[in-house]
Amino acid sequence: MYATNKERMTEKIMTFSKYGALDDGGITRLSLSPPALEARAAFKRRAEALGATVVSDDIGNIYATVPGSDPDAKRIVVGSHADSVRSGGNYDGIYGVLAGLEALETIVTDEIPHRHPLTVMIWTNEEGARFEPAMMSSGIVLGKFEKEKMLAVKETGGQTTFGEALAASGWVGDEKNRLNKEEYLAYFEPHIEQGPVLEEQNLEIGIVGGVVGMVNYDIILDGVASHAGTTPQTYRKDALRAASKIITGLWEQLGLDRTELLPQACDDL
Ligand SMILES: [Zn+2]
Repeated sequence: MYATNKERMTEKIMTFSKYGALDDGGITRLSLSPPALEARAAFKRRAEALGATVVSDDIGNIYATVPGSDPDAKRIVVGSHADSVRSGGNYDGIYGVLAGLEALETIVTDEIPHRHPLTVMIWTNEEGARFEPAMMSSGIVLGKFEKEKMLAVKETGGQTTFGEALAASGWVGDEKNRLNKEEYLAYFEPHIEQGPVLEEQNLEIGIVGGVVGMVNYDIILDGVASHAGTTPQTYRKDALRAASKIITGLWEQLGLDRTELLPQACDDL
C-alpha cells in the first residue's frame, strides 16, 4: 500500500508559506511579483529534483512532467495556482500544486509503476488580484480570453502590463506547451474549501459541481424628502423601507435561507 507523506507535505506547505509571508499571518503573493517568482523557482527546483521535465507555455503556465511506461498514453494532470490575493491564506491555490507535487514525490521515490505521464502544473495569474480578470491564463488556454488583450492589461494601481511582467519573469515558453485536450486524460485541482460547509458538516472532501457566477447590480431607490412631523407615514416615500422590502422579498423568492440548498453528502465517495 502506497501513501503520501504527511510530514513531507507539511514541510512543503510551511516552506511555500514563507514566499510573500505577512507579519500578522497569511501571505500576499501577487501574480509574477518577486515572492510569486520565488515560489515558482522553488517548485521548479523540487520538481526537477524528482526527475520531472519542467516547461512553461507562452503565458507562463508551468508544467512539470514525469513520463509513464507507455509513451503513447495521455497525461494525467494535477494543478492549481501559486499566486494569492492580498492577505491570502497559506493553502489557497498552492495546496493544489503541492498536493500534486507530493503525489509525484511519492510515486517517484516509492517507484510506483504508472502507465501515464504525470504532470503537476501552476496556472499564471489565477486570482486576478494584480491583473484582472481572475483565471486569466487558464481562460486564455481554454479560448475564453484573447491573449493580446490580456497581455495589455495594466496591474491594479500601477502601470506595468501583464505582458511586461510576464516577459520580465523569464517564464515565457512555447505556445505548443499549452495544456491541450488531445494530450491529457484527466485534470484534477485539489483546493481548500473557501467556505464553511464541509467543516460544519464534518466532511473531509467535497467535489465541485460548478463555480458561482457573480453578477452585481446597482439599484437606486429614490424616496421623497418631506417634513417629518407633518407628513403622516402613509404619505411618505421612504427609500430605505422600500429597499428593506426588496431585500427580504429576494431572500424569500429565491429561497436563500433554505438548508436543502446546501451541498449534500454523497455516500458513493
Ligand atoms: Zn484558489
